Amino acid sequence: MTPFSRRVGILGAGQLGRMLAMAGYPLGHKFGFYGLNHDEPAAMLGNMHIQSDDTDSLGQLVDFADVITYESENTSVELVEKISQTTPVYPSAASLYYSQHRGREKSLFTELNIPCAPYTLVTNLAELHQAVDMIGLPAILKSTTEGYDGKGQFVIKQTSQIEQAWSSIGEREAILEGFIEFKRELSIIAVRNADNQHVYYPLVENQHHEGILRLTVAPAQQISPAIQQQAETYMQALLDQMDHVGVLTLELFETEAGLVANEMAPRVHNSGHWTMEGAQTSQFENHIRAITGLPLGSTVPRQPFAAMVNIIGQHGDIEAVLKMPNAFLHLYDKAERAGRKLGHINVVADSEAELQTSLEQLKAWMP
Ligand code: AMP
Repeated sequence: MTPFSRRVGILGAGQLGRMLAMAGYPLGHKFGFYGLNHDEPAAMLGNMHIQSDDTDSLGQLVDFADVITYESENTSVELVEKISQTTPVYPSAASLYYSQHRGREKSLFTELNIPCAPYTLVTNLAELHQAVDMIGLPAILKSTTEGYDGKGQFVIKQTSQIEQAWSSIGEREAILEGFIEFKRELSIIAVRNADNQHVYYPLVENQHHEGILRLTVAPAQQISPAIQQQAETYMQALLDQMDHVGVLTLELFETEAGLVANEMAPRVHNSGHWTMEGAQTSQFENHIRAITGLPLGSTVPRQPFAAMVNIIGQHGDIEAVLKMPNAFLHLYDKAERAGRKLGHINVVADSEAELQTSLEQLKAWMP
């Protein structure tokens, strides 16, 4: 056993858990997962504890683990608080508490002077009508919890759509958010360990289609050092306020007036997958380093240009991708299904022209 070897328990066994484990084995760690079934992406990569009413599989994971982390911001805060009584969980319950509720998240941004869209909390249709009067249109109605990849959201353009919006998000607690005219969508990933060491990856540009991330360009082009610094200052405030240990991701809008925060995730993020080959240390390794008490690794890009293309729904011409010298394929061992993230391809390049040519080629091979 290596001197710093740890048993890491992960709540969840999807692709994020899979890539965390793959990054943690070279450090000498062992992994266990708390998941749904043996077909999940991470199931074969460590001890798999299947959720069930009959056995205390969560208790078994906790017994196995020296430290526990999770894949999703929708993990129960109460569950994490309970586990924390016996075994450290990183990021802690505070990070989850803020990140899993859009209202709490926005009020934290406001408290820390991080610009975000004007918003108001609504719990019924009458309040939604009042909120529309206050915020103006267009505006976006978002359920406060369990929204991801654009689900649980409705863009209200005219007052005649208010009722439709309310029923479309399931008539539950929501925020109405002012519409931001943005130039680009960006995100930044930061990592903090328990010794209060912070590191930041460069801002990246994200392109979505139908609410799902398709492409990340890393670093985002034409970002001034002042804008990068601004994003890092926002991240540092969030990390310190939540006493966050592990990776934290912040999605931002780039506007004429500067950066505007959209939402954060207390976990490794799809917009950070480029770091696997694109940065000196991947987001996955840095998360594992942070939660197992190791010094954090360099976040500097290995090459001037990188990108990540998601494989969604169908695998496409994988053999063609494998022949491309500057492309790196990552599949999650998932069956094809419309809208499902099956894997991603990272591309690195020495010039913008080389990156664009590679992306054009990939476009032809992906459905
Ligand atoms: P979210 O789930 O909050 O990340 O929102 C999904 C997508 O909707 C974002 O990636 C943006 O493209 C768009 N969006 C969300 N909030 C706003 C906003 N306040 N103004 C304009 N577009 C938004």
